[in-house]
Amino acid sequence: MARCKLFIKPLKIQTNKDYYFKKATVSYIKNIETFNKENASEYVYSIFESGSIDEIKTAITKFITFVDNLENIYMWWLCQLFKDTLTKQTAAYSTLPCGTKNNVIIVPPEHSPIILLYSCLSVNGNPIDIINGSKKFIVRCDEFVSPIYDAITVAEINRVLNAAQKTYRILDIIAPTKPMYILCFNNSHTEHNSQCGIPYNGTRTATIFLFHLKENGICNRIFIFAHELGHALHLALTGNINIIPNGFDEFNKSMDINFEKLQEKQEAFADAVALAILNTSGLRLHFPTEHSKDMSPYFAKHIKTITDKFLSV
Ligand SMILES: [Zn+2]
Repeated sequence: MARCKLFIKPLKIQTNKDYYFKKATVSYIKNIETFNKENASEYVYSIFESGSIDEIKTAITKFITFVDNLENIYMWWLCQLFKDTLTKQTAAYSTLPCGTKNNVIIVPPEHSPIILLYSCLSVNGNPIDIINGSKKFIVRCDEFVSPIYDAITVAEINRVLNAAQKTYRILDIIAPTKPMYILCFNNSHTEHNSQCGIPYNGTRTATIFLFHLKENGICNRIFIFAHELGHALHLALTGNINIIPNGFDEFNKSMDINFEKLQEKQEAFADAVALAILNTSGLRLHFPTEHSKDMSPYFAKHIKTITDKFLSV
């Protein structure tokens, strides 16, 4: 069975804004003659001119080193420029007509690293948040490697999204207001074929990460993506990935399945959703071979009960 990683971002680091303003006023007088805004902004713009994960990582590393050595007022100014540019850039990607399905945005590999960067940073960030978020991004970049096998195509993603929406209206549930991003990467990941990012700020909209597969033939890329939609649905239904959707425990009992660990239940739920989606016509071929086809209609019926109930409230 395909396994993925669910990750939860750590809590935001709180900093005292006033402290920075006071320090900034003092340092402003000391450094006003030596700081050159034009040269400094080059550090920010070089990030957005980069394309690959490696290029952005290099640009971010230079940016952090530069910002770290600035006096506070300039640190604030430059971090603000960085945050504003990043927010604008991310907003521009979200209006791309290509690959948008309902409220779900499929982000192509050339734009995904910037959205990943955005997801690592606090939107209300002060310099410390921005520097820490950038460091977090660099750590994430180190998890990427050169592509090993094929990645899922946009056409395949759309087939799965269509199937999920047609029978279960899953897109209406997972992204009712805030768009959900599906980030496609031109890289493989050191450990996973895909990931589902859970926001730490209480919103119910996940972010799906799709990488080039690292095993050939073992995991079906259609199933892997449908499985991540299962995690996204789980979050949307309960608002907390640690709460198992209503009726799932009873359903497992009725099938003589007994899970002890929470993670096993989370993964089983995502698998159940994936099987239900793939049970629609045209996608049946993509069942992982180790699953009995006889069981899938049962999963399909169960997921329909859960989604119908949710949508009728
Ligand atoms: Zn998973």
